Amino acid sequence: MLKSFGPLEIMLILGAVVLIFGSGKIAQLGKGMGQAISNFRRESKRAHEAEYCPDCKAELEDNAKFCSECGAVISSRIKLPQGSKETK
Ligand SMILES: [Zn+2]
Repeated sequence: MLKSFGPLEIMLILGAVVLIFGSGKIAQLGKGMGQAISNFRRESKRAHEAEYCPDCKAELEDNAKFCSECGAVISSRIKLPQGSKETK
């Protein structure tokens, strides 16, 4: 059963969940999940777009050729892990 977890199994589980909780509850749940997913997408997109100067760690403009802080030519962009301190 677990080895073949495909769309059919998901449909069966969703059907069972609808039977157990009722469709009103599912609509609420779906709404909440939709919001969570859109929040997650927005956050991950923002994290993806944030790029930093390899020399001074200043945040770079989109497709910047030079660092606006130290003037270094941007040959390689780095992405700092989320939560790291940014000095400006
Ligand atoms: Zn720089």
